[in-house]
Amino acid sequence: MLPYTRTMETLRPGMRILMYHRVCKNDKYDQLTVDPDKFSEQIRYLSEHYRIISLDNVIAELESGSIKKNTVAVTFDDGYLDNLVYAIPILEKYKVPATIFITSQFCDQVKRHPRYNNEKQRLHLDWDEVKELHVMPGITIGSHTLSHPYLSSLDAVESKNEIIESKKIIEEKIGSPVNYFCYPSGDFGVREMNFVKEAGYLAAVTVAPGKNRPGIDRYLLRRVEITQKDGPADIKAKLSGAFDIIHQLLHWRRQRNFARAARNNNK
Ligand SMILES: [Zn+2]
Repeated sequence: MLPYTRTMETLRPGMRILMYHRVCKNDKYDQLTVDPDKFSEQIRYLSEHYRIISLDNVIAELESGSIKKNTVAVTFDDGYLDNLVYAIPILEKYKVPATIFITSQFCDQVKRHPRYNNEKQRLHLDWDEVKELHVMPGITIGSHTLSHPYLSSLDAVESKNEIIESKKIIEEKIGSPVNYFCYPSGDFGVREMNFVKEAGYLAAVTVAPGKNRPGIDRYLLRRVEITQKDGPADIKAKLSGAFDIIHQLLHWRRQRNFARAARNNNK
């Protein structure tokens, strides 16, 4: 750890929220897929060296201001079937809580994540599997909209519908409140944040890198992506903040591109 980040961590500890997508075998490298053996190595390392808590506890600790060093939470986006098949047994083995953000139309099996359009097998969890996950100890189900759009490119009515209706649909299916939202592709504006609050979510996660410290807006929680390339030393470096500045620069560039794409869409 760099002396600066070590000092910052001592003076103002923060929590990292880890972002995963798929956990499955893959022939070629995919930034959003981690091999189950690699995932197992990552979770074992994390469980031995970090305190891993649920999003409920992240919010409670941010509110109370009592942040402990080396605390992380685990999240998965898009609701892939492989989360249940490969990730859950590993999470159970190491007693690691996690939040899975699902897209309701993916669970309806009427739509799939466009990145994996060519895959023949079923890609996403169905509703019975979501219910099965929901009752597992430590597993939280969150919303990732109805159809996984670029929210800022939609008109206000559509954007609001994606955020509010997905919450209602998932709540009906699992029979419990859905408290957490995840902006698809990290694309959102102030308008979306307001819809998320209006819908009654407790908090929302973004793809902005960095730590979550007391005082952070709960609807702008930061996350760090963990990939197939990350071994224990990489995870340690990422979580210590070694890449925060470069990740922040990459994130600004990405946001600028989103803004440009949204402007072009509205032309
Ligand atoms: Zn997504």
